[in-house]
Amino acid sequence: MRTKIVAGNWKMNKNVQESIKLADEIVSELKDLTLEHTRVLVAPPFVNISEVVKITEATPVEVAAQNMHQASSGAYTGEIAAEMLTSLGLQTVILGHSERREYFGENDAVLTEKVSTALDHKLEVIFCFGEVLADRKSGKHFEVVAAQLRNVLFELSPDQWSSVVLAYEPVWAIGTGETASPEQAQEMHAFIRRMIADHYTQELADGVSILYGGSVKPSNAQELFANPDVDGGLIGGASLQATDFVALVRSF
Ligand code: PEP
Repeated sequence: MRTKIVAGNWKMNKNVQESIKLADEIVSELKDLTLEHTRVLVAPPFVNISEVVKITEATPVEVAAQNMHQASSGAYTGEIAAEMLTSLGLQTVILGHSERREYFGENDAVLTEKVSTALDHKLEVIFCFGEVLADRKSGKHFEVVAAQLRNVLFELSPDQWSSVVLAYEPVWAIGTGETASPEQAQEMHAFIRRMIADHYTQELADGVSILYGGSVKPSNAQELFANPDVDGGLIGGASLQATDFVALVRSF
C-alpha cells in the first residue's frame, strides 16, 4: 500500500515563538490519532527547524526543509547545504516549489542538481511541479507537467525513486483559494503515474506517493484525497493553523 502523506509548508511564516507554538499544538492534536500508512510532515523556516525538531522528536511528526542549495558546501552566502539539514536529523527536503521557480529563478537545470545533491546526502525529495493558468487555458498542461518531470527526474535510477515523493501543484491553485476539482487532480495524477510506469515499470509507479497541492483545506480535502491516485497533500495556508492541519490528516 502506498504511503499517504500530509506535508505542511509554512513558507516564510511563523517566527521562532510562533513555530514552537504551532508545532506543540500539532503534536498535541495528533496524540490520539492512530496513523497507519500515513506520514505527517511540517516544513518550518530554516531558522526555526532546530526548535521544531526538539518538539517533534519521539512523535509521529517529521520535519522537512523547504529548500536547500545544490552545492555541498562553500562560498554561497545565505544558503543552506544538504549536510546542514541531515546534521539536524532531517530526512526530507521540498524542492522545486513554484515560488522557488518563479521568484528565485530555479529552472530544470538547477533542480536537477538539487535533486542529485539531496539524494547523494540520503535526503528524501518532495519534488513540486505544475502548470500555470495560461498552460491550462491553452490545453498545454499535460505537456508542461510531462516536461517538468522528464527534464529533472527521468535520469534517476529506479532505486533512487524510493526517495522521491511527487507534489503536483497547479500554480493557479496555490494560495489563490482556487482548487483543482477532484476530477482534474485525479486526471493529472493518473497521467503522471502512467508516465512513470511507461518510463520505468508499473510496479515502481505504483509505489510513488503523488501529493496534490493548491488550496487544500478541511472543506475540500476529503474529496481530493479520495481519488485513487492522490496520496495526500502539500499544504500551504491551511498548515499554519493546527486545527485545520490536523483536520487534513483526518481526511483520509
Ligand atoms: C503550496 O504552497 O504548496 C500550497 C499548496 O499552498 P496553499 O495550500 O496555500 O495553496
